[in-house]
Amino acid sequence: MTDDHCVFCKIIAGKIPSKKVHEDELVYAFHDINPWAPVHFLIVPKAHIPSMSHLGPEHANLMGHMMTLAPRLAMQEGCNPYPEGGFRIVVNTGAEGGQEVHHLHVHVLGGPRPWYKG
Ligand code: 5GP
Ligand code: ZN
Repeated sequence: MTDDHCVFCKIIAGKIPSKKVHEDELVYAFHDINPWAPVHFLIVPKAHIPSMSHLGPEHANLMGHMMTLAPRLAMQEGCNPYPEGGFRIVVNTGAEGGQEVHHLHVHVLGGPRPWYKG
């Protein structure tokens, strides 16, 4: 369920410090160390799932939880309301998908434009 060499497993375990946004039994959310936008945090499952390519039907509840949590946390972290505001969800998957950390994570990006990236 965890990988000793995984940076996000270490963050979830508190072995690497992070700025917490939310925690529950399924997920941990924290600010990205290198933000692309005024609001940029990551939602990660507590279980070490390497990528979206590793998902099966048994993960439907977890992924539904992450997706329905995102808008609530986006407002909590200062994104402006829909439709003038809003936010962007990014899930990079694999090398060609731009994934650098191989522990599944949902980027939530928002805040006034321009952004640095995304
Ligand atoms: P990826 O390219 O895999 O989709 O994104 C990985 C993200 O994790 C990057 O935006 C990067 O800034 C962030 N990240 C990598 N290491 C750490 C860390 O130790 N702490 C935090 N808070 N974010 C990290
Ligand atoms: Zn991990």
